[in-house]
Amino acid sequence: MIEAFSAAEVIAAKRDKHVLTDAQIDWVIDAYTRGAVADEQMSALLMAIFLNGMQGKEISRWTDAMINSGERMNWSAISRPTVDKHSTGGVGDKITLPLAPLVAACGAAVPQLSGRGLGHTGGTLDKLESIPGWRASLTNAEMLKTLQDCGAVICAAGAGLAPADKKLYALRDVTATVASIPLIASSIMSKKIAEGTSALVLDVKAGKGAFMEDPEKAKELAHVMVDLGKRAGVNTVALVTAMDIPLGLTAGNALEVRESIEVLSGGGPEDVVELTVLLAREMLDLAGIKDADPAAALKNGKAMDVWRAMISSQGGDPDAKLPVAKENTVVSAQKDGTILSMDAMKVGMAAWRLGAGRSRQGEAVQAGAGVEIHAKPGEFIKAGSPLYTLHTEVPASFTRALESLQDSVVIGDLPAGGIDRLPLVIERIVD
Ligand code: URA
Repeated sequence: MIEAFSAAEVIAAKRDKHVLTDAQIDWVIDAYTRGAVADEQMSALLMAIFLNGMQGKEISRWTDAMINSGERMNWSAISRPTVDKHSTGGVGDKITLPLAPLVAACGAAVPQLSGRGLGHTGGTLDKLESIPGWRASLTNAEMLKTLQDCGAVICAAGAGLAPADKKLYALRDVTATVASIPLIASSIMSKKIAEGTSALVLDVKAGKGAFMEDPEKAKELAHVMVDLGKRAGVNTVALVTAMDIPLGLTAGNALEVRESIEVLSGGGPEDVVELTVLLAREMLDLAGIKDADPAAALKNGKAMDVWRAMISSQGGDPDAKLPVAKENTVVSAQKDGTILSMDAMKVGMAAWRLGAGRSRQGEAVQAGAGVEIHAKPGEFIKAGSPLYTLHTEVPASFTRALESLQDSVVIGDLPAGGIDRLPLVIERIVD
């Protein structure tokens, strides 16, 4: 096959800070997907993009080219409006689990094609796989049936969805080119647009436990993603939300499922409930459903009914006992005082080191491993009271997990102005 460009000329263009043409972008994504551009050439191009950035129109074309590398889902057989949520990921972020059934209980259809966790943030599929029998991989016909019957489906994105992103993401992971706004935005949005949802709410995390620690960078990422969604005809809104401290009281797969079930039973930690209801309102608003009351649907069992149907439809047993790790150890507070801060990244790293996360794609995770948090910032704690319980199957991992948790909290006198932390919702971005 005669190639339209050489990889070296596209790399040189970006190295020299030029704007890539539509034809160059279409070619390089297609040629990389079919193996005509080598990993070392794409690595150089990714680094040039990382260093020199991309203009809005380049990011949009790059995203389209990734979508066009694979299939696009079609939910036109579904009578309800479709709406999805995507979070950029954080520690203890189990919101998808109660949110998808909640929004379905309020009348929308939620097709949630998810990924697995890498590094310190957990993946939705890893969490759900701790439910005995539950299956992440569905055929397109099974996805459609679960969505039709239950109103929500959470499953693995098939190999046919944005295959260019799968190759690119793996390469970015090993070439230190993940943390680039054009590359993150195009990676996330290519999958979400190909997933075929009509509307999308983005939860862009900011703070210590997030991809983008700086709220200003998180806002920039949110603007780029909202713009990409709108250009593709997907009604998109973003909330930039706090990830300076962990969400809720658990980080780890089965531990987070247990907490999600508490939320679906009308209880659960306040921050998890608040964010779930806020995101549900945004999703229902975009879906054109104005008269629903998501807070009531958590309390009256309607969201729980959808959860049970959705889990059963994918082979899971909603009544099965969740796995519990064999070993645990408690970390206690060193002194009396108010907890002034809790470092989300340190808690996430501890959960990861206990076995809740993976360091390489394809590695197995432990269902029961993770960190339970007994007190959160703003609360008073007495010396010797439990602060965390660590769970694992491998007791040797306690040492490194405990190292991660060193200095993870600051305990002191409550300042007059209260504790210094990010607000739960930092900004709402609509364009
Ligand atoms: N999640 C993705 O899917 N892609 C990124 O680049 C970062 C987070």
